Amino acid sequence: MSIIAENVTKTYGNQQALNGVSFQIDKGQIVGFLGPNGAGKSTMMKIITCYIPPTSGKVSVCGFDVMEQSIQAKKHIGYLPELNPLYTDMYVREYLSFIGGMYKIQNLKTRVEEMIETVGLQPEAHKKIETLSKGYRQRVGLAQALIHDPEVLILDEPTSGLDPNQLVEIRNLIVQVGKTKTVMLSTHIMQEVEAMCDKAFIIDRGKIVADNLDVKELAKGNLKLEEIFKKVTSRD
Ligand code: ADP
Ligand code: MG
Repeated sequence: MSIIAENVTKTYGNQQALNGVSFQIDKGQIVGFLGPNGAGKSTMMKIITCYIPPTSGKVSVCGFDVMEQSIQAKKHIGYLPELNPLYTDMYVREYLSFIGGMYKIQNLKTRVEEMIETVGLQPEAHKKIETLSKGYRQRVGLAQALIHDPEVLILDEPTSGLDPNQLVEIRNLIVQVGKTKTVMLSTHIMQEVEAMCDKAFIIDRGKIVADNLDVKELAKGNLKLEEIFKKVTSRD
């Protein structure tokens, strides 16, 4: 298992964001983490990536507890946060070298060039990040998440706000890098999950409401993911 979450809860003040969340993600899968806005997706991802602690419960990544062994866990995790926070006044190579330096990567210059190629940044790699389109900024975000060659990638709404062409390009890129990694990506777009993912989970109001859905199997049948989503997240 790449990711195991056991009975995770998170409260912010008196706001309960996660309420007993458990799931497992197999090695090598691309998993869609679906849910309406405010469901708890980003909170769960911040806990998996050791950015915030859970209020209770346990999470491990590649066998490392995110609380007790966070340094080892982080070595195995690449994270593209929601809204892709980048240092926009840096140049692309400068930024990737800065991130790679934090991971103490050997042959950093070569690794930065490899990443630029992997994510298709070559035509824009000489520019300042603030001058890049949103699609190219997402590529920089993916490159920084991949630079230390992690086994697990956590992508929080990686395609949100992209135009239709950029959307297809970034989806293809995620599928490409996902061939050799475990990927967990959040979205509220069903077609995205159908296009990219092996499995899907649905979370609503801090609880898992649909577990381990087999996306390819669902695609063969009549029951569409969208109908399941509507049913399990309905407010009626
Ligand atoms: P999602 O990513 O699915 O939209 P979030 O994990 O961002 O959901 O949020 C889950 C719930 O927790 C929401 O009700 C949100 O308002 C609340 N929340 C998230 N972050 C904070 C915070 N830092 N302080 C207080 N409440 C928060
Ligand atoms: Mg979110």
